[in-house]
Amino acid sequence: MPHDNAMTGGGLNEPIGMHDFAERLPGVIFQFHRDPTGHMHFPYLAGSGTSLPGIDRHALSQDARHMLDRLDAEDHPRVMAAIERSARWRIPIATKFRIRLSGRRYRWVALRAQPEDSATGVLWHGLMIDITEQMAEEARLRKLSDTDDLTGLANRRRLMSRLDEEIARSNRHGSPLSLMLIDLDHFKRVNDTWGHLQGDQVLAEFATLCHDLLREEDVIGRLGGEEFAVVLPLTPLVASGPLAERLRSEIAEYDFGISSGQLTASIGLAEYRLGEPRDALIERADRSLYAAKRQGRNRVVS
Ligand code: GH3
Ligand code: MG
Ligand code: MG
Repeated sequence: MPHDNAMTGGGLNEPIGMHDFAERLPGVIFQFHRDPTGHMHFPYLAGSGTSLPGIDRHALSQDARHMLDRLDAEDHPRVMAAIERSARWRIPIATKFRIRLSGRRYRWVALRAQPEDSATGVLWHGLMIDITEQMAEEARLRKLSDTDDLTGLANRRRLMSRLDEEIARSNRHGSPLSLMLIDLDHFKRVNDTWGHLQGDQVLAEFATLCHDLLREEDVIGRLGGEEFAVVLPLTPLVASGPLAERLRSEIAEYDFGISSGQLTASIGLAEYRLGEPRDALIERADRSLYAAKRQGRNRVVS
């Protein structure tokens, strides 16, 4: 029976010491210490991950700030709070952060550490692993699941979650918020006359046109079929009304390649009322849209 705990180096069963073993780990293992004055340092730091540019073991063994100062500005307060919480309640740290390299480059690092009392403060035992590739893959998948295939706009799910966020913000700060529902007029005719593929092409172009006409903060999404919605943060009805009207007229004038004047849109508009549920806002915008259709299409109703 081979020995379970035999650590082998280059050759079979050629034993290596604990030190060499630690240095070959694909990450970093460490001890991290904080004294009562708040001074922090790494008494022990090992692993192949310590070769990351900017990680100077000698400097870190004196002062952890050499690393903490390199944390992304967005992550720094969260990491410091995690250390503080862990020290106060003696609970493990589990967090992740970006560490800045040269230029605008950074790496994502996952950190786990277990605190214990030491004679001179708090001592953590922990590990760090580079998770940059996983984070990139996660971001890619998130984008995929949030995006409408045909138009590249936010899909319904993403749009609803953004609407929820903006409603929460509006309720917190009392800031105005408008919702625009857009339905293309007589789109069945476009399909019937030009074919479904051409119809798809029109939808994609329509999305690009709207996207170009809106502000960065506005969120446009495809609800499904030829129905779209725009969430307009910090925008009261007096401002979203003219915006919707401009959008409507730009659409009517735009050449979608299906003989001009053939594509128009009806728009229903509603301003958020503080405290109302999301569905009530959508319902009011939808009623406006329905009214726009009834009144003859190619118009904005609020
Ligand atoms: P109106 O809204 O003015 O009342 O008339 P409409 O012809 O647009 O009627 P409705 O909204 O009920 O129908 C929408 C049509 O849009 C039905 C369908 O053929 C077409 N449509 C929905 N989704 C797609 C799509 O992804 N691609 C294409 N090409 N057509 C679609
Ligand atoms: Mg429709
Ligand atoms: Mg329609």
